[in-house]
Amino acid sequence: MEQRACAACGNPAGDANLCDECVKDWAKRLAWLLKAGMPALRQIAYKQATTRERSPRHGNAAYAAPPVNEAAQALYSAVELHLQLAGGMLGVKPIGRDRHERPRTLRQWADIARLLLHRMRDLARLDTAGDLYADLIRLSEKVETATTRAGERRLVGVCPDCLHVVGDDGPVRTPIYAAHSVRYAVCPECGAWLDLQRVRLEYLRSAGLMHITRTQADAARWVRENTGVNVSGKDLANWRSRGKMPSTRRIDRHYWEWNIMELLACAQDRAGRDGDGV
Ligand SMILES: [Zn+2]
Ligand SMILES: [Zn+2]
Repeated sequence: MEQRACAACGNPAGDANLCDECVKDWAKRLAWLLKAGMPALRQIAYKQATTRERSPRHGNAAYAAPPVNEAAQALYSAVELHLQLAGGMLGVKPIGRDRHERPRTLRQWADIARLLLHRMRDLARLDTAGDLYADLIRLSEKVETATTRAGERRLVGVCPDCLHVVGDDGPVRTPIYAAHSVRYAVCPECGAWLDLQRVRLEYLRSAGLMHITRTQADAARWVRENTGVNVSGKDLANWRSRGKMPSTRRIDRHYWEWNIMELLACAQDRAGRDGDGV
């Protein structure tokens, strides 16, 4: 069988243009747009919901409706057009053309998203699969940002690509914010495509943050959130009992002072045994 490289990550992709992992992520994003992203964006674009908290003191009477959100409407249309073009490339009927003469289906975004989810294998074989997937990542990140309350996003770290650029005040430190569920982001400054787990770990290392004080269960949760590896409290206990956490100290009955490098090593070991990388 012909062995191609994935257009997004370079891993083996068989006779398709994207590997299984990237196709899985693509489908996950499509399903999220269908079930959560686009419905939430529609609320914001057309029904004047806002991502800002409403002041309880204002009540409803004195509160002027915010203007129609044009940025949200434009994004909503952009996602719909993207899905229509993807559908057009698969020959989903009925077919029209966009202003660049590319085939697009005239169906609604929700119908097309459902249809595409059933035809991920065909999508992955399109010559344009890499571009379509990259566009969908960009669009779904934008929808996520537009529909996430500011407080739900947290600082993940700084962009490693910008860090290589030296400005007047030393290396450029662009903060990267993302919601918890997000795996990838695009740097708002340089446009680099970022794997957030790596950004997070690099940030912790460079900040010199070496210890955290947590209970065993909370330390395991910390590892899961920061590495995506499914580590349990019991895994940590096993590691300690095997003498693999020499710098981790017990503080009292419940709390431990964990060495971050030892926690990450445990995650790496766990990921190696599970067969997926950190
Ligand atoms: Zn891939
Ligand atoms: Zn950057």
